[in-house]
Amino acid sequence: MPHLLSSLSVIRTRREMWTKVVAATLGIVLVTDGIDAVVNLYTQPDRLCPSFIQTTLIAAFMSLLFLGFLARANLRLFQLKERFEALAHTDLQTGLMNRGGFFAALDKAKAGGSDLTLGVLDIDHFKRINDAHGHLVGDYVIAEVGRVLQQGLGATHLVGRVGGEEFAVALNGLDPQSALGTADRLRRDLARMGGEPLPPGLKVTASIGLAHIGRGDVLDAYRRADRALYEAKHQGRNRSVNADREAGGNVFPLPIPSGS
Ligand code: GH3
Ligand code: MG
Ligand code: MG
Repeated sequence: MPHLLSSLSVIRTRREMWTKVVAATLGIVLVTDGIDAVVNLYTQPDRLCPSFIQTTLIAAFMSLLFLGFLARANLRLFQLKERFEALAHTDLQTGLMNRGGFFAALDKAKAGGSDLTLGVLDIDHFKRINDAHGHLVGDYVIAEVGRVLQQGLGATHLVGRVGGEEFAVALNGLDPQSALGTADRLRRDLARMGGEPLPPGLKVTASIGLAHIGRGDVLDAYRRADRALYEAKHQGRNRSVNADREAGGNVFPLPIPSGS
């Protein structure tokens, strides 16, 4: 019952607002007219329903006025709640999902039956970029990496910023080898980044660790992907490593650019 009442009182759109206001007004008018009829039956039994028109008009006017105000406030609150929820799940620097948003979306996709591979990406030697070019350039690099990843993955896969210069991707419906191929394609896209306002010659590389989630535990996959990322760093950075044996470890390390 409380659930039914709260779902009746939630107003998500203007159309829903008007539908509910009109429906509630009709209900109030019917009840008011019913009470009026019963009162008339006892007070003026010879005249059936003499005040129906006034009762209906007054009840309809008052209901529309008060319910209209309430419903508008309700709709505004709902829109604000949606906005705050979206903001709470968004990383403002990149416009991507933040850590909370990413794992919430991942859980939802997994519950919906998606066969996911988790990827953890960390920009290589990012401290050097900050030290050599300043934090503003560093910030811009992070935003650019976010944009390139989003562009490279489209709507089929998920991407979020899960830490300072760390990103996570959830690749949908890819076998281990294809997941590795996609990770390497993303690294190539990153290596091609450049142009204004990035400093000339600045090359950005990243290391990626992958682990298949499938029907398994997300935390366990995260641990394995993180270990694979550590392995990629350990092997010299600028490469992808898949924690799943059948993918055959790391492939296609790109040459590490100097001076970045
Ligand atoms: P590695 O290849 O081992 O990942 O080396 P790294 O230098 O990238 O890694 P490390 O974790 O030592 O340094 C990451 C740095 O990223 C430290 C921190 O100051 C910087 N950082 C984190 N978030 C931001 C940010 O939002 N903007 C900027 N400009 N720097 C950031
Ligand atoms: Mg890091
Ligand atoms: Mg790093």
